[in-house]
Amino acid sequence: MTRIVVVGASLAGAHSAAAIRKAGFDGDLLVVGREPHKPYDRPPLSKEFLTGGGDETRLPLPVAAEDRLEATWVIDAVAASLDVSGRSVMLSDGSSLGFDGLVVATGASARLLPASVGVTTADAVDQAPGSTVDSARDRDAAFWSSRGVVALRTLDDARHLRGLLVGAAQRQDPVVVCGAGFIGAEVASSARQMGLDVTVVDLAPAPLSRVLDESIGAALASYMQAHDVNLVMGESIESIDITADRVSSVRLSSGRELPAGVVVVGIGVVPETAWLEDSGLDLGDGPMSGLVVDRFCRAGDRIVAAGDVARWPNEAFGGRLMRVEQWDNAVEMGQYAGRSLMAALEGHHPDEPYRPVPWFWSDQFDRKIQLAGVISDDWHDTVGSPSEDRFVRTYFDGSTLCGVLAWNRPRQAIVGRQLIASQADRAEALERLTPAPS
Ligand SMILES: Cc1cc2nc3c(=O)[nH]c(=O)nc-3n(C[C@H](O)[C@H](O)[C@H](O)COP(=O)(O)OP(=O)(O)OC[C@H]3O[C@@H](n4cnc5c(N)ncnc54)[C@H](O)[C@@H]3O)c2cc1C
Repeated sequence: MTRIVVVGASLAGAHSAAAIRKAGFDGDLLVVGREPHKPYDRPPLSKEFLTGGGDETRLPLPVAAEDRLEATWVIDAVAASLDVSGRSVMLSDGSSLGFDGLVVATGASARLLPASVGVTTADAVDQAPGSTVDSARDRDAAFWSSRGVVALRTLDDARHLRGLLVGAAQRQDPVVVCGAGFIGAEVASSARQMGLDVTVVDLAPAPLSRVLDESIGAALASYMQAHDVNLVMGESIESIDITADRVSSVRLSSGRELPAGVVVVGIGVVPETAWLEDSGLDLGDGPMSGLVVDRFCRAGDRIVAAGDVARWPNEAFGGRLMRVEQWDNAVEMGQYAGRSLMAALEGHHPDEPYRPVPWFWSDQFDRKIQLAGVISDDWHDTVGSPSEDRFVRTYFDGSTLCGVLAWNRPRQAIVGRQLIASQADRAEALERLTPAPS
């Protein structure tokens, strides 16, 4: 019997498994996952899971619960390496899983505090252990987390963080969020809604300014400040003070000290490719890291990849190599990769390459920020401006629409995405995205 192994039991993995079955695969379908849970949704973890009492009932992914998936869930199991020519995945318990087709959907993990961040305790000054090696990384995460310094990626992280935030609210301990990207800003918003005193620290000049333009970051900064989030921009955390095995404060690059009962680390993610290091597959490098696949999501012979782990040439943007850390892409790429693998098993490739217009949303207090496509330096506000409650910014690559940012304007995000997909020119984009005067 033919066997397909999916490594990564989350959004992309579950959707690729479903697409494989939908395409008629009736062989053995194994889904391997490191977490002790079947696939669940991550976006609520920084939002309503924290503010809404830790409700887990809506987290499981419906696609993974479908009976017709008939998958064997090998969960709480870690893929340690891949033998491409031997067509086998080795697990950390020493067992191996042979395959005829493989989906790599191992996503990304939260980036840890750099080793340069020191730890100060009452009786010793030390450097935190810092390494990218898997086991050392887990040790670091456990070291920090047991002291109230946590990153947020998994359900278990979210359970722990929620407990810490509830405790901090009771004791009136302040929370420091390190990193003003999407996750950091969302956690700050949720913690404020839980009544906590929150300070966000980032080296960047404004929140989100590594991913969006600075004027939008400035608008978000004003909005966060209006909700009593303290922002310390242009500074980094130099060291973390631990008293009686708990974080008590953080020291900033300026020398300033901020009291802290909880520290949330939201400084980005790294693609989960450590287990592929000896496989011979192309894992990119530095800022371009991630498992490199072709336009049909193929990393090798009958090996495909999808979701946060994968980098591919997106022909919708001139073949630009993209790795996208977004929910919608994990779903679409997972489905596409499943179909592409089925095509490969039948000796061909899909008719169309994978060429999506990426789209994501983020919730900050009662605002919804959505971005379709990519940003550029050439922009035009078609609705309102960043100082208003609702606005829409369009981005152009030459004369072609390449991105639409919608701030509390969900309809324009949908229309914008369609216009980007159809490569609308400037005149058409501005006309369709500028509301008629009333
Ligand atoms: C708190 C939070 C909030 C978010 N909010 C939004 C949002 O508002 N909007 C949005 O667009 N996106 C959001 N995202 C991003 C979105 O959830 C991700 O893009 C999506 O989960 C990626 O899916 P994936 O399946 O590619 O990877 P992941 O969800 O990371 O899953 C990969 C799985 O593989 C497992 N794995 C890794 N290595 C191994 C191994 N060696 N062996 C076995 N298993 C392994 C991991 O444990 C994990 O379960 C958010 C993410 C987080 C964490």
